Amino acid sequence: MDKRVERAADLIRQARHAIAFTGSGISAESGIPTYRGAGGVWHKYDPAKYASIDYFLKDPSYWWRFFRELRGPLLQKARPNQGHLALARLEAEGHLPAVITQNIDGLHQAAGSRNVIELHGTARRTSCMDCGTAFPIDEILPILDREIPPRCPRCEGNLRPSVILFGEALPPDALEKADHETRAADLVIVVGSSLAVYPAASIPEMAKTNGAGLIIVNVDPTPMDSVADVVFHNSAGTVLPQIVARI
Ligand code: NAD
Ligand code: ZN
Repeated sequence: MDKRVERAADLIRQARHAIAFTGSGISAESGIPTYRGAGGVWHKYDPAKYASIDYFLKDPSYWWRFFRELRGPLLQKARPNQGHLALARLEAEGHLPAVITQNIDGLHQAAGSRNVIELHGTARRTSCMDCGTAFPIDEILPILDREIPPRCPRCEGNLRPSVILFGEALPPDALEKADHETRAADLVIVVGSSLAVYPAASIPEMAKTNGAGLIIVNVDPTPMDSVADVVFHNSAGTVLPQIVARI
């Protein structure tokens, strides 16, 4: 592994515009189960219901019950791990202008990354579908203990999570920023993503087509391993700090 760590560090040092593309795997060591991987709360509820905008509009209480269970592992207990911290350090040292993430947990920001593009929204905010006010999730969590679905503290209207559900378009501003970063990138560091979910997975693909280098850090193999410059089938919290230490 030492040679590969050295090679990855070289690629990052030489890059003019490196970006990271992250998925749920980077948060696994923070105690948040990946969706396809472990069991836990994801599988106690039906994704056809909690992940669908049509079902949310029909029966919002299902989503809020699911979320009441998820809030512990996803929001309240989770702290950034060595993987998040390593990426934040790369940014602080001028080696990583952007992180594009599929995660909704806010842990990149908690680790100190400043330019984080959230393709699937965030579980840390909600907004009112009636008056449009946005609320930090901390203001809504206590309401869940007395009423589900919770009502807007301002107008009693219907609240929704600021995560993107199936059946919804990805947020145009995030997509545009991600597109801009991807076009500018001459190196993409993929961390903790199976690269199986489209259109998000098209980001490393597009960068590669543009001639960018590719580093993959993912426990399981991905469809892009064969075209990557360096591949680690190890955990993010082990590999990323080693790479950063050599830069
Ligand atoms: P995914 O398909 O991108 O797979 C996760 C990958 O992470 C797997 O291939 C696995 O090998 C790898 N992995 C697991 N532990 C790792 C570690 N410690 N270090 C490096 N790699 C590791 O993601 P998914 O779980 O199928 O999720 C699909 C979508 O669901 C995500 O894109 C996201 O929107 C949402 N989701 C978000 C969170 C979160 O915010 N933390 C958690 C679960 C799911
Ligand atoms: Zn309202």
